[in-house]
Amino acid sequence: MPVGTQAGVKSLAPRDLLTELDARIVLANTYHLYLRPGHEIIQRLGGLHRFMSWPRAVLTDSGGFQVFSLNALNKVTEEGVLFRSHLDGAPHMFTPVSTVDVQLAFGSDILMVLDECLPYPVSHDDARRSVGRTLRWAGEANRHFLQRRSSFGAAHSLFPIVQGSMYADLRRACALELLELDADGYAIGGLSVGEPRNLSLEMVEATAPLLPLARPRYVMGVGLPEELPEYVARGVDMMDCVLPSRNARNGCLFTSAGRVIIKNARYLEDAEPLDRECACYTCRTFSRAYLRHLFQAGEMLFSTLATLHNLTRYLDIMRQIRQAILLGTFPQYLNNARSRSATLP
Ligand SMILES: [Zn+2]
Repeated sequence: MPVGTQAGVKSLAPRDLLTELDARIVLANTYHLYLRPGHEIIQRLGGLHRFMSWPRAVLTDSGGFQVFSLNALNKVTEEGVLFRSHLDGAPHMFTPVSTVDVQLAFGSDILMVLDECLPYPVSHDDARRSVGRTLRWAGEANRHFLQRRSSFGAAHSLFPIVQGSMYADLRRACALELLELDADGYAIGGLSVGEPRNLSLEMVEATAPLLPLARPRYVMGVGLPEELPEYVARGVDMMDCVLPSRNARNGCLFTSAGRVIIKNARYLEDAEPLDRECACYTCRTFSRAYLRHLFQAGEMLFSTLATLHNLTRYLDIMRQIRQAILLGTFPQYLNNARSRSATLP
């Protein structure tokens, strides 16, 4: 899922996401949109889809991750999280119920429950207490969601989030308890918080098999291109990550032949396309030399062309994976991907 934090994927128009990228779903950020422009304004303007002119699916996170990562001044109580806006310092509170209401005001297709996102590392005791709270919050959010859903039909889904820091026993216990909610899909959160990457994979490996096979399993906030098949191999269906778009703006491009750091002098007169195997507008149209020039000159167009390519690369990998699964050749695909990524820059 491309990430559109402020209801916009940075540097791209929704038209690009639709026609060039054929993205099926984008992620938007509850914390940011709640603070600015506010969920009530978005609701009055017809909801998030109309507001951002995006006809396909929108997933919104619950805001918990941003509250914990952007705010030194947050206080977690049994009721919810007290925090100060990073914009003007004003106090706000997110509760399991209020974050459902905010996301319903957006008209999100997939809503996420409020969860407590711990830093890394924490003790087993702290992680256990936090999982207890996350489970109570998930139950509360789900009850409220089901009540409200009865009045507007089944067009929305609420996903609970498995937490448990880097402790497999807590992750498993959390997953098993969340199964009782019988949710439409499940997320694995609290990863990509500074832990070594093999540990993130290990936690997913411990958790994903416990979640229902026939419903989406979503790992939040991962990963690098070479990690996508690894997560899928562990049973993951959905991922989101700012890396393709953020790295694009910083001049780091993901290609089928590895990473290209476009500012390198070796691309000064390079007339080749960025990635011969990529069919995106950027690769169909421009040379590496031109892309490097735009980057060096600080042109906004660079961000657009680079983001278009990086997101295409990510979505292409996922399209190839889906095809391999349908053809029954995913094990070979995974082996090839592993041996290729071992040799690429
Ligand atoms: Zn491309």
